[in-house]
Amino acid sequence: MNKPPQLTSEQRAEALRRASASRKARSLLKAQVKSGELGVGQVLAIAATDPVIGKMRVVELLESLPGVGKIRAANLMRRISISPTRRIQGLGVHQIAKLGAEFTLSQPQFSRGRLLVLSGPGGVGKSTVATQLRERNHFWVSVSATTRPARATENNGVDYFFLSNEEFDRRIAQDDFLEWAQFAGNRYGTPRRAVEEAMAQGHDVLLEIEIEGARQVRQHSKEAILVFLMPPSWEDLVGRLAARGSDSQERRAQRLELAQREMAVAPEFDHVIVNDSVERVVQALVALAR
Ligand code: 5GP
Repeated sequence: MNKPPQLTSEQRAEALRRASASRKARSLLKAQVKSGELGVGQVLAIAATDPVIGKMRVVELLESLPGVGKIRAANLMRRISISPTRRIQGLGVHQIAKLGAEFTLSQPQFSRGRLLVLSGPGGVGKSTVATQLRERNHFWVSVSATTRPARATENNGVDYFFLSNEEFDRRIAQDDFLEWAQFAGNRYGTPRRAVEEAMAQGHDVLLEIEIEGARQVRQHSKEAILVFLMPPSWEDLVGRLAARGSDSQERRAQRLELAQREMAVAPEFDHVIVNDSVERVVQALVALAR
């Protein structure tokens, strides 16, 4: 047998914290299954992107379903030839199809919403586009968490979830973020669970995030659609950044330098859309999600 790894006390504490967070996430999901809020199809959809749920045993999922106790779950597993220790992420296509026949995988598995990531240089107008998409109900727009202080016009839970540095650290340790990144001295992250639930319910989800975060989404999900919003010209972007009265001269210079680097990564994205009209960008994004 392999020797257990030698861990420092911090590593041990971190491993315990993670294990406890995973247990909590699974028991929350099981409660939602028990109450009928989530069906088998939705759980399979969540498991496809959430490793904590992916590692849950199939038997635990089945036993949580309303009207399915231990005996029915065990019989079913035998009939479909799923081993008692099989985890959701290890299910084969035939097993999923048989589970589907048993529980009619309720719509969501098949009409799962799409994940669209809108990124691009700071100042290009991402948030105006995102606001339009949210207001017109075209997308479920994710509300990010950030360590940046709220601006006068912003509301907690609406524009962002404003967190302390300690709380942000805690969320990272619990693996609560689908992605997170440092930007201009603050941290920003996408709460994983809300996004997964919205997609499982069939909503198309929009993340309006900076480039490093978009790259992380690409690494986890091949299905995500990555869109780079490009200014009509470099001069246009300079003009937009200059118009931001809240920035000092030095800050504006830093933002421009960053924007120059950000523009260079456009080829990494699936689509590049020029922001010459908000309306046109909105229509293009709706079309992409379809
Ligand atoms: P601001 O502070 O101006 O609201 O946002 C600064 C940058 O952070 C913007 O480019 C915005 O798209 C990005 N951002 C907002 N939320 C997130 C997030 O959850 N993750 C990442 N990676 N970037 C984000």
